[in-house]
Amino acid sequence: MMSYGYKPELSEGAIKSPIFQTSTFVFRNAEAGKAFFEVAYGLREKGKSEELGLIYSRINNPDLEILENRLTLWDEAEECAVFASGMAAVTTVLMEFLTPGALLLHSCPVYGGTEHFIEKILVKRGIHCVTFYPTDSKSDILRKIRESGHADDLAMVFLETPANPTNAIIDMTMCREIADAFSTKEKRVLVAVDNTYMGPLWQHPLKFGADLVVYSATKYIGGHSDVIAGACLGSAALIKRVKTLRTFLGNMAGPWSGWLLLRSLETLKVRMECQAGNAIRVADFLKGHPKVEKVYYLGLIPECDKQYALYRRQCSSPGAMISFDVRGTETHAFRFLNALRLIRLAVSLGGTESLAEHPATMTHAEVPPEERAVMSISEKLIRLSIGVENASDIIYDIDQALAQV
Ligand SMILES: *Cc1c(COP(=O)(O)O)cnc(C)c1O
Repeated sequence: MMSYGYKPELSEGAIKSPIFQTSTFVFRNAEAGKAFFEVAYGLREKGKSEELGLIYSRINNPDLEILENRLTLWDEAEECAVFASGMAAVTTVLMEFLTPGALLLHSCPVYGGTEHFIEKILVKRGIHCVTFYPTDSKSDILRKIRESGHADDLAMVFLETPANPTNAIIDMTMCREIADAFSTKEKRVLVAVDNTYMGPLWQHPLKFGADLVVYSATKYIGGHSDVIAGACLGSAALIKRVKTLRTFLGNMAGPWSGWLLLRSLETLKVRMECQAGNAIRVADFLKGHPKVEKVYYLGLIPECDKQYALYRRQCSSPGAMISFDVRGTETHAFRFLNALRLIRLAVSLGGTESLAEHPATMTHAEVPPEERAVMSISEKLIRLSIGVENASDIIYDIDQALAQV
């Protein structure tokens, strides 16, 4: 994360990559320009030692290329494409691999923006969709697909695990098996995982059969709540398609965002490990507190629970997202949120500062009440993203705010 993919000799010996704040790149000569375009537009295959030449910043830019190279390391992916936002990454993947008539199977709940794009925008364009809950078994899901009447058109399984905000885990191997059950020689049903909640450190979906991993890099990867960006990773063949659509939508990240993320990546591991360490202490405090009814945190799943084995298999850490029910109603939840002094009342997650929010009226306000009930998103549920502050300070703040409930 410190030096991979960057050659100081190409940048006047600068130890860090400069910000290549430029729209276009000067060709050495006309032949070089021609060669670059042939490769960029797929008019011929790239030669063995040939690198994709720099043409124009909507197609490629050094800050983005170095960032993409570094991101491939965490997920051990062949290729990566970075985007102007997590939503740009999600929507570009969905648009590239779903055509009118296709069936999309997705887990529920997914990120609100993703849900809106699927339900309000893709459906209008003739894409069918079927949803499943983390509690659904493989046979439940297979039945839902068959009952949709579009089983033969299944093109993609899209999921988020652990589910936001209650940390329910979905079996990625099972999703692969479901996709395989509807794949044919001509058509591979793709599995795409939004890994924003646990990645890129603690969960690696490609190892569990996913074809594509997407991120809101706004969260842990950026980590400082000061940049919006996204990423998508997978095989060279799939990412080539994703990058081609990105070129024509023009929703790549800019050089300044790319540079900020390169800087963020240097501390990614220390930040995430510190956040996870703090979260263990916070969860431990919450679980015994008389004003707390229930804590949703991967580190507190009982060993006898079916979810425990899944958690141990898929995740290398309980992460830094904790949700909990206060005893009472929305009034009590709001009293808690309004009394916080160190923890900020804001949506988003994964940053250095701890954040708290109320899913039922904020991030998940668009989810119909009956679905919220199925997913335990009650009016007394609070979601915390734990930051890198001193754990004792975070706990002190939660303790004094709970005293106001
Ligand atoms: C934030 C988020 C997104 C959207 O990312 P943006 O960078 O805000 O566009 C997508 N998925 C998940 C799980 C998120 O948390």
